[in-house]
Amino acid sequence: MQHYLRRMKQPSTLELEIKQLELLSKGLSPDINERETARNSVIQYTEEFLEALPDKKAYVVTEDKGKALLDSPISDEGTTLPSLISIVKENVDTPGLNPASGGHLGYIPGGGIYTSSLGDYMADISNRYSGIFFASPGAVRMENMLTDWMCNFVDYPATAGGTLTSGGSIANLIGIVTARDVKGIKARDIERSVIYTTTQVHHSANKAIRIAGLGEAILRNIPLDNLQRMDAVALESAIEDDIKTGLKPFLIIASMGTTDTGAIDPIEVIGNIAGKYNLWFHLDAAYGGFFMLCDEIKQRIKGIEKADSIVMDPHKGLFIPYGSGALIVRDKAHLAKSQYYTANYMQDAKASVDEISPAEISPELTRHFRGMRLWLPLKLHGVNSFRAALTEKLLLARYFHDQISKIPGYEVLNYPELSVVAFRYLPDGLDADSFNKKLVEEVQKDGRVFLSSTIVNDRFTIRLAVLSFRTHLETINLTIQILSEKIDSLLSS
Ligand SMILES: *Cc1c(COP(=O)(O)O)cnc(C)c1O
Repeated sequence: MQHYLRRMKQPSTLELEIKQLELLSKGLSPDINERETARNSVIQYTEEFLEALPDKKAYVVTEDKGKALLDSPISDEGTTLPSLISIVKENVDTPGLNPASGGHLGYIPGGGIYTSSLGDYMADISNRYSGIFFASPGAVRMENMLTDWMCNFVDYPATAGGTLTSGGSIANLIGIVTARDVKGIKARDIERSVIYTTTQVHHSANKAIRIAGLGEAILRNIPLDNLQRMDAVALESAIEDDIKTGLKPFLIIASMGTTDTGAIDPIEVIGNIAGKYNLWFHLDAAYGGFFMLCDEIKQRIKGIEKADSIVMDPHKGLFIPYGSGALIVRDKAHLAKSQYYTANYMQDAKASVDEISPAEISPELTRHFRGMRLWLPLKLHGVNSFRAALTEKLLLARYFHDQISKIPGYEVLNYPELSVVAFRYLPDGLDADSFNKKLVEEVQKDGRVFLSSTIVNDRFTIRLAVLSFRTHLETINLTIQILSEKIDSLLSS
């Protein structure tokens, strides 16, 4: 050994080469001054963005649609930060939808609260490994605390738990795969297995069914009532018919807040039916779930705890920036049954574990420490701030509903159960479908607010979805004014 160490004193060519590379790779670790300069550039950019936001459009059409981004390809040599920020401003921040805008009233908005970005910043710098308790007990406790809180406000029992995901689509996928595994659906059963849902279910659930290998199962779209909700009587008789003919009903997928109209399926009745026939009840509450924080909705929506699995999207109802979904289940052992896997190289991780790890109840192993972006704003602002913002959104949708209902010509499809209003304008003697298509195009071209459209009952329908934390009364008044302007100009042309 001595002899060996003595020999090492002369740097070998290998050592010299390593040292040279070390010097170059240190470019990836800016020092304290370089960090400050870089951070200041980014802060200047984010502050300019936020300060300009109230005057920015919600939707912008540009000629080249950000194509100039490609003029600066990924290259061997680095570039300065300010020049990169200009590229982003011009090509990424400008064309298309601006989801940070309070004028975003299309699809299902959310906004992206500032303090969540600070949580991400902290999480990205510490880079804690939130997949496994052994690696970061604190990060795993934080994430479980968040899903436990969600379990709590839907009145789940102590057996419940869940996992934070990248969004509602992945949460739907995990829920549906769990249903498949817990109900023991094997390949040979699939063609006889029956899934019950409606045509109003979010397409990510249909996609999840296919990805889960259930594409050849029987999918029954249960009829809707006149408010686009699943008809529970028809559901029960469909299940009975299927049992009689020897099929294997195993899963009901219902919605708490459909995308088209914000309709809520009769959750309690569906829960009872699922219990009676021993079916898995998956509730897609990606849009509506966090409204359970509002007293009024909590009073109105009964039986949510009967669902076996529930999807909620913090990047919608908690206004977190994109990349935050959640799946909670009534019995977390079910999630483990479906998702658990291990390997020899994971053996150290089995030592002294107090809490179930995200990696054991989801498909992900290494993952973004996404708890911090949720925990920080919830703790900083307190749940009451979120509750107030959510209640404000409910009332804004009702206000919009009431206002346009008074204006002759509007046909309003629904009194908002949550914060979506579906409507159309019926022009005298003109085709309503093509008129409303033009109307939504004109609103989008204008860009001050963004509305999206859909088809309900085979009719072209415009929808207003209030869920950005930046949407306030003046945004809704502006929307009504813009609609009037566009209707007038379309009628006169
Ligand atoms: C948004 C949404 C989804 C999909 O969630 P993502 O977060 O976009 O993946 C699923 N279901 C409903 C009801 C939704 O509103």
